[in-house]
Amino acid sequence: MKGMMMHRPLLVSEILEFGAGAYPNAEIVSVRTEGDVHRETYPEFRNRTVQLAHALKAQGVELGDRVATLAWNGYRHMELYYAISGIGAICHTINPRLSAEQLIYIVNHAEDKLLFLDTTFVPLIAAVKDHLPKDLRYVVMTDAGHMPDAPYEVLCYEDLLAGQSTDIEWPEFDEDTASGLCYTSGTTGNPKGALYTHRSTVLHGMMMSVMQSSTFKEGASVMPVVPLFHVNAWGLPYSSLISGMNMVMPGPAMDGESLFKLMDAEKVFSAWGVPTIWQGLLGEIKKQGRKPEGFEDVVIGGAAAPRSMIEAFEKMDVGVGHAWGMTEMSPVGTHGVLPKWMDDEPFDVRVDYKSMQGRRCIGVDLKIVDEEGNRLPHDGKAVGELFVRGNTVVSGYFKNEEATAKALDADGWFGTGDVAKIDEHGFMSIQDRAKDLIKSGGEWISSIDLENVAMSMPGIANAAAIGVKHPRWDERPILVAVAAEGVEQPSIDEIRDHLSSHFAKWQLPDDIVWVETLPMTATGKISKLNLRKDLADYTHPELRESA
Ligand code: ADP
Repeated sequence: MKGMMMHRPLLVSEILEFGAGAYPNAEIVSVRTEGDVHRETYPEFRNRTVQLAHALKAQGVELGDRVATLAWNGYRHMELYYAISGIGAICHTINPRLSAEQLIYIVNHAEDKLLFLDTTFVPLIAAVKDHLPKDLRYVVMTDAGHMPDAPYEVLCYEDLLAGQSTDIEWPEFDEDTASGLCYTSGTTGNPKGALYTHRSTVLHGMMMSVMQSSTFKEGASVMPVVPLFHVNAWGLPYSSLISGMNMVMPGPAMDGESLFKLMDAEKVFSAWGVPTIWQGLLGEIKKQGRKPEGFEDVVIGGAAAPRSMIEAFEKMDVGVGHAWGMTEMSPVGTHGVLPKWMDDEPFDVRVDYKSMQGRRCIGVDLKIVDEEGNRLPHDGKAVGELFVRGNTVVSGYFKNEEATAKALDADGWFGTGDVAKIDEHGFMSIQDRAKDLIKSGGEWISSIDLENVAMSMPGIANAAAIGVKHPRWDERPILVAVAAEGVEQPSIDEIRDHLSSHFAKWQLPDDIVWVETLPMTATGKISKLNLRKDLADYTHPELRESA
């Protein structure tokens, strides 16, 4: 028997109307490319978004059209998120750190109709424009007074909005209508498009608000350093409006000093980003001898949060939430808020749990399987490939039948390519990306674990563990590291000594290669692919000796 309740489609426009109506004093504060700080309340944001929606219609944007953005975190980017989806078009966020080749591929593949860009990116488009669709139109996200001299025809964002009505009857359509498009960074092969729906986006936004309920306090300020140009800034553009948080947008300046200043000025309560960002901020905190005022919560994800980083934040009373997910999951899948009963656990035990990637979010199912696809127990010991299922997980890739055919297993679960274990409380611990695991003598070594412990040494600022060819053991682990400033560089023996309390002897790295910097991907993670390329001429010490 069917229940008798109304069925209203879950649409992104409802989040906008809800946020603006429920939290009239909440603000979006943005560092602008114009060089100043801009503030607008949620109702002002809502009205400008409606004006933008009318402007998009006037530009001929229709249901299902793709409209691209190439922009930093700021209020205009937020307006685009809501206006594009609100009228039933698809907000295609582009990561400016992609290679020119990838950018050309995705804009052509998405068949974008309009491309909105920050002034910063005018030269970037100039360099690739000849390879982009001929009928693509460009809108620079600024006012007439700040329009740059572009070597191609551009429209002005504020001119488009001017004079448009602030009244709207948002269109209603099926909740499975596409609302957003984000391409994976495609470290191998072409990027693949995750096509989010209104339903998945609204559910993910609500899910994030629930998962963050202990820290998402109405009226407090949240700072997404995680970019709006990739994976929906972990859902913050939606969950902030659902919960009534002020949003503090850093714009292009994401170095430790700029972030510290902004956080201090805006009393940012909760800040979200990848580990490399927090390394910069921690450096600044050390320099200043204090944390930014009001800073109490940090969410770290996108790559494993090193234990030393978690300890540093927790010691200054900044609670760490460690999150895991991927483009194909909207993106968040697990989140590491500790339950109340862990309050009395010793500091080290709490940090152990925070070093894991947390428990599944409501609506996201996890399973780990062996090489034959058999389910493995959640006992904290069994390690297997991680599969996920849920309303916020992709069912395939946009216009890519080949990748779609490979995305799901026979039971409809999505293979993440990550290798993990899950304990009896449901805490999941990512061991590695399957392709980054180091295989020595038929046994696996987690590169993430090695990196984590190595980085707890004062002399090591950043580290990556990779496997290098070895005739007897197939692969052996080595460390590639960046030395910490002002601290003596440890020798490989000292490093092995330090690691030996955490690892079996055969798991210890055989060598260390010191580098100035580690290569990064477009999403701010260490690029093991490029690192392996950089070390193409490297030979294992034993082979060197025998040569
Ligand atoms: P891309 O790098 O292509 O943009 P995503 O942003 O979708 O890809 O990254 C997804 C991957 O990042 C995951 O599959 C996982 O390997 C890694 N990842 C994300 N969060 C964490 C985390 N907290 N700990 C370890 N690895 C993580």
